[in-house]
Amino acid sequence: LLQLYSPLSFFGFIYREIKQAMVDMERMFELLGQDREVADRPDARPLRVAGGQVEFRDVRFGYDARRPILKGVSFTIPAGKTVAVVGTSGAGKSTIARLLFRFYDADGGAILVDGQDVRDVAQASLRAAIGVVPQDTVLFNDTIRYNIGYGRPEAGDEEIEAAARLAHIHDLIMAMPDGYRTLVGERGLKLSGGEKQRVAIARTLLKNPAIFLFDEATSALDTHTEREIQANLREVSQGRSTLIIAHRLSTVADADEIIVLAEGRIVERGRHADLLAQDGVYASMWARQQERAPAVPAD
Ligand code: ATP
Repeated sequence: LLQLYSPLSFFGFIYREIKQAMVDMERMFELLGQDREVADRPDARPLRVAGGQVEFRDVRFGYDARRPILKGVSFTIPAGKTVAVVGTSGAGKSTIARLLFRFYDADGGAILVDGQDVRDVAQASLRAAIGVVPQDTVLFNDTIRYNIGYGRPEAGDEEIEAAARLAHIHDLIMAMPDGYRTLVGERGLKLSGGEKQRVAIARTLLKNPAIFLFDEATSALDTHTEREIQANLREVSQGRSTLIIAHRLSTVADADEIIVLAEGRIVERGRHADLLAQDGVYASMWARQQERAPAVPAD
């Protein structure tokens, strides 16, 4: 009986594990807003990454043809530089991130990575070149080690630990009785929003992508966490083309270019100091934010 029972219970275990993994993947795609309609062209080639320059060339897009969201957006992130997108809620900031990751295809214009149209390259190769820290990081019901390493399953313990240190989450992990074997997620340790984002940053560091996409969490973080995230952000963006979708202006002050989006168009662009001097939309957004909360210094 034991002989008969064991394999069955083993398969039961495997079945539950697979089912859980599928549920996790589905949830992740749901949260990322994955559109399954975008498909590779039959002749799609792998993306050839050469520095990670990103170009949006007169990009037009609407989720619904009757309601355009982006009405001709052009900007370039030179290899290794940082561009931040700011604007009122609903202006289309996160839409820009979704188009770069090719969850949707643009209706007009083009998005190029190192000169290659994202529609012409294999999706898997495009996504492998982009490290994303989303607004809400999904954690798997597994160990913290698995959660950091899953972007690169072959990563060794030392690499995982190095990434966790850079993301300033190693000490927190070591303070837990089971260390890197601590279970997180719904059935395990619950991490705060800032801690989850640091796990996502560690994942990204491990993946070592040429392009880094940071979709800042909308929720307000306390000053200490905000400062830590900013420090992490600087480390991750070092030497990578970085796109920051910003909800709080404190994260964008260091960017090489800030783009102000309003009603689907770029209404202002430049560096922080230039935009303040222009005394336009950005300057008034900055003034409003200063009133609400004391600024977090850029360094
Ligand atoms: P926020 O600062 O509030 O996150 P945002 O500037 O990032 O806003 P987007 O998320 O890009 O804004 O959304 C732009 C517009 O597109 C919004 O009006 C939104 O309602 C709409 N929108 C976003 N996602 C979808 C979708 N999947 N289907 C239809 N409309 C959508």
